[in-house]
Amino acid sequence: MKSLNHSIRQLFFKNNCILCSEKADDNLHYMCYNCYKSLKNIGKLKRFNDIYYLWNYDNKLKKIIEEYKFKNKLYMGELLFDLIGVELDKLIKKEKIDGIIPIPVSHKRLMERGFNQVEELLKFGGYSYIKSSRIKETKHMYELLNLEARRKNIKSAFKIERLKGLKKILIIDDIITTGSTMKEFITEIKNNNNTIQIVVFTLALSKTAKKINLKMR
Ligand SMILES: [Zn+2]
Repeated sequence: MKSLNHSIRQLFFKNNCILCSEKADDNLHYMCYNCYKSLKNIGKLKRFNDIYYLWNYDNKLKKIIEEYKFKNKLYMGELLFDLIGVELDKLIKKEKIDGIIPIPVSHKRLMERGFNQVEELLKFGGYSYIKSSRIKETKHMYELLNLEARRKNIKSAFKIERLKGLKKILIIDDIITTGSTMKEFITEIKNNNNTIQIVVFTLALSKTAKKINLKMR
């Protein structure tokens, strides 16, 4: 079955690296070995205030996440997980995490895209995670440039039940730009679970987040 999938992929996708357009590595499919290696070398666990992250959100990361999310290249999740898995495991052990919660996407977005990008990554790694829901249809955050508009857009967007028996949870998103989404999600969790400890992990952290000295607690 795997070889069939592989052949189908080869038929439909030009096997060029999405980052440098050189021929992609046969096992990586979407990337050449040099780009993969350099991403892996840079993508070590880093910390900025209360946020753990692997990469700065630059043009490369933008391209990778866009290809994965908006062009429905679900198979790229396999490659992405390969890049984050070891570091994510380190974080979970280091912080003694006992529950993982991906930021949920809205029903509409789920229908458009077909998958929740973070949940799919966790599935590749065989992690169990807690589902929560997004109860408000929000605009894409990238359409909203100012912080106040982003805050309003995401206000009361989430719903999460009481998390019983958990001491420290890890919330995961793919990108953190201004932090509006993550902050609102944390507020909702704290409303129902005031003693729970929260750790945040994102694949990519923006320059804006550093400039505004974003904090989650
Ligand atoms: Zn390349």
